[in-house]
Amino acid sequence: MKILVINCGSSSLKFQLIDSESERCLAKGLCERIGIEGSMITYAPEGGEKEKTETPMPDHTEAIRLVLEALTNAKTGVVKDLKEIGAVGHRVVHGGEKFSKSALIDEEVLKAVEECNDLAPLHNPANLIGINACRKLMPDTPMVAVFDTAFHQTMPEEAYLYGLPYEYYRKYKIRRYGFHGTSHSYVSKRAAQLLGKSYEELKIIVCHLGNGASVSAVKNGKCVETSMGLTPLEGLIMGTRSGDIDPAILEFIAHKENKSIDEIMTILNKQSGVLGLSDGLSSDFRDLEAGYHKGDAGAVRAMKTFSYRVAKYIGAYAAAMNGVDAICFTAGVGENGPLVRSFVCEYLGYLGVTLDPKANQTRGTETVITTPDSRTAVLSIPTNEELAIARETVRLV
Ligand code: AMP
Repeated sequence: MKILVINCGSSSLKFQLIDSESERCLAKGLCERIGIEGSMITYAPEGGEKEKTETPMPDHTEAIRLVLEALTNAKTGVVKDLKEIGAVGHRVVHGGEKFSKSALIDEEVLKAVEECNDLAPLHNPANLIGINACRKLMPDTPMVAVFDTAFHQTMPEEAYLYGLPYEYYRKYKIRRYGFHGTSHSYVSKRAAQLLGKSYEELKIIVCHLGNGASVSAVKNGKCVETSMGLTPLEGLIMGTRSGDIDPAILEFIAHKENKSIDEIMTILNKQSGVLGLSDGLSSDFRDLEAGYHKGDAGAVRAMKTFSYRVAKYIGAYAAAMNGVDAICFTAGVGENGPLVRSFVCEYLGYLGVTLDPKANQTRGTETVITTPDSRTAVLSIPTNEELAIARETVRLV
């Protein structure tokens, strides 16, 4: 079956067409600046040239119409007829407590997703717009919602509750939800396969280190802890997000700099993280790595502080699971950043981690980066959220 995977943001939309039997990506692309002047679509069929076309996209329906047109194009398309697309899998950011699994989309599911809008006001409404636009153009094609939060719904109460008045949980469902669930699930399963061990018998820590970053603890095939919280701002230091801070810092900055809560939230989301720590050098780890090698003080500070936070979380999650068998690095930096991986592993001697410096040079391949006698295995595993969404879609339809 051919599955169209859609990841819809407020002004952009990523897509992949995946053949579920061979698990090959037949075509992929991106619509940018939807509803803004200068919109463009990038389309790349498997093995073919990438083409970028500037074309008006006043709304998401028009963006999806252009995606379907590209996929069926007589010259560069990869299907003859839209009927060849068996189902559509949609990434949905927040499923709250309502969704612990993916769901076949119907009116009831859409209503439940809409009820989670409050929890992810920037993401969920955009995801819903994408779903509705697709349903308009492909009314007879089954669609599935795959939630970023679903994998983490197995966390026990002591892991997901905050030390706040319990009424806020009761009234507003303020709790830890966690994100990047599709990636944490895919990578932890893949680690078990690569190690030739049963997923249900392993204690795995996954470090998803991209522009957004989170850690999860997966015990016997179930997520028991994760570092992002009610929103994706908590936990690790990220590209531009602060991660954990003393909540009283908000009030302190507000008074010192005469700023509103909205302005402070913008600072915490957009101007902090390694961008802030490097004194504005960059949020991109490629720049930071280059800066580190040149001895730039900001780059050194950002890389070291980022890595230390990851190591601290690994320690906490090894404690939460009473041990760890495998630690995985994934996403942009985790898959491609030997320097960050080596900084983190320097803290892990007590877990019996022995890094293999040569294996650690890998970029973008599935590799065990520890020596064969390392007590805990460390792996670099490229994530593939689109494939995971396609698999879930096939499972449900
Ligand atoms: P993601 O959000 O998963 O796309 O990850 C984006 C982050 O990965 C950015 O900070 C990139 O700088 C980083 N990244 C991507 N490729 C590399 C690379 N070859 N070396 C170091 N960092 C990389």
